[in-house]
Amino acid sequence: MRRQPLDSLLADLDARYLTRRRTTVDGFVEQGNRLVTAKDGRTLVDFSSNDYLGLAHHPALASAMSECAARNGAGSAASHLITGHGVEHERLEEELAAFLGRERALLFSTGYMANLGVMTALADRGECILLDRLSHASIIDGALLSGARFKRYPHCDAGAVECELEENPGITVVATDGVFSMDGDVAPLQRLASAAAARKAWLVVDDAHGIGVLGDNGRGSLEHCGMSGDAVPVLVGTLGKALGSFGAFVAGSRDLIEYLIQKARPYIYTTALPQPVAAATREALAIAQRETWRRERVLALTARFRNAARERKIPLLESNTPIQPVRVGSSGAALAAQRCLFESGFRVVAIRAPTVPRGSERLRVTLSAAHPENQVDAVVESLQRVVGGGLRTTPAERRSS
Ligand SMILES: *Cc1c(COP(=O)(O)O)cnc(C)c1O
Repeated sequence: MRRQPLDSLLADLDARYLTRRRTTVDGFVEQGNRLVTAKDGRTLVDFSSNDYLGLAHHPALASAMSECAARNGAGSAASHLITGHGVEHERLEEELAAFLGRERALLFSTGYMANLGVMTALADRGECILLDRLSHASIIDGALLSGARFKRYPHCDAGAVECELEENPGITVVATDGVFSMDGDVAPLQRLASAAAARKAWLVVDDAHGIGVLGDNGRGSLEHCGMSGDAVPVLVGTLGKALGSFGAFVAGSRDLIEYLIQKARPYIYTTALPQPVAAATREALAIAQRETWRRERVLALTARFRNAARERKIPLLESNTPIQPVRVGSSGAALAAQRCLFESGFRVVAIRAPTVPRGSERLRVTLSAAHPENQVDAVVESLQRVVGGGLRTTPAERRSS
């Protein structure tokens, strides 16, 4: 078969409202408010970042970064296993392990690569991986790359996982998000952990959106579910979300980390994260632990948002995390709603297929400790104008909103 011209493929995406566009922005925090300036010069309040604790613009992170850059240079100049592994990386790994109560942690350049590394190292051809239907794309890609077969179970259905594990002894890995990135709900970690442990399968939890936000000490979804570290042998976390920096890690036993160092190709064959990034992350981790008000604030703003949205009959998904999806139902409607909110001065991004299943297109509002209360109230008012009332919802959706 001959290749298709790209312009017709692009036109086809456009006709289905599936073209993705970047907006070039200049992000900053002013008087405790997360703002972005769009190219046309307009300033918008940003309700789409993953900067849950408001740390991305913290001056202490910026100065840790520049001091480290002056000392160690901008780049690491080699992979970790050659000469790229620096003191800042080593300390950050120790501090992450201590924070999470694990024997060791291993830095990866991105969460995407951490998931590729974990899945390819732990699963092999001839084995089977079990994934939540709404798992992050990087978990799915890791499963594909591993060469193992994989099977997706209905979203958050621990019963289905128990059955599959019982029936299929070939399953060696079960993987799930801790907090689901597009839905904001939390996986049933206790049941998944006991089911996987009973069948000697690895449980991999990607807690990109839980670390720093959930749990009494900000340790994430596991702490939120009342679980200790060792209940989940493989914990993946990212550093570019609540911690406001960049990069990712895997935390677990000494042997797990040693094995990943030997086997995880996305760890081995890539340049080490710049040390200034690690230095900024160490600062972020210290602030996140010290300033517990950040976590409390973003969760209080989340509750405020939900209450106000419920009163106005805005169709929310069931989520108590700072990820608050608003159902709109089609790609065209999601884009139109996004545009209306832009006009009202808010950046709230439409999430379309294939990021979410078709028919579940949504606006994804995310809260940050760097939002003032009045802006949270204002975005709810705009949402009501844009999506409130006019939508047809199913009975299940009405119950969950
Ligand atoms: C953001 C995200 C990732 C990717 O992390 P990056 O560091 O941005 O590559 C992986 N998993 C989940 C669940 C995420 O939300």
